[in-house]
Amino acid sequence: MSTTKQITEYLEIDLDDRTWVCTECAETIGPAAENYKRGCLVRERHPHEVHRPLIEDAEYSFAPDPEWVRIVEFYCPGCGTMIENEYLPPGHPITHDTELDIETLIERHGESQ
Ligand SMILES: [Zn+2]
Repeated sequence: MSTTKQITEYLEIDLDDRTWVCTECAETIGPAAENYKRGCLVRERHPHEVHRPLIEDAEYSFAPDPEWVRIVEFYCPGCGTMIENEYLPPGHPITHDTELDIETLIERHGESQ
């Protein structure tokens, strides 16, 4: 049985293997030292598809301008749970939003045993 530490709602770290793991299905997503998004399934969504008009056939909605914003969703490759999503300017690289000090996590976990 491996030791895990939950990081977000759908992500945990396997402290033995040093990998990102899905909390829903235990699928290994990738090395914990790297961006977990690299191991996810990725889907780009049109802002008008995500933010539908509140009034049918309305000229305006709260959707961001697709010329300025793209919506990128990240899914677990094991179970399809949406792990994260982000709004980025077109052409902007995917962000690296979580970088952990894994050695300290392992050390602290050892101390609490
Ligand atoms: Zn999963």
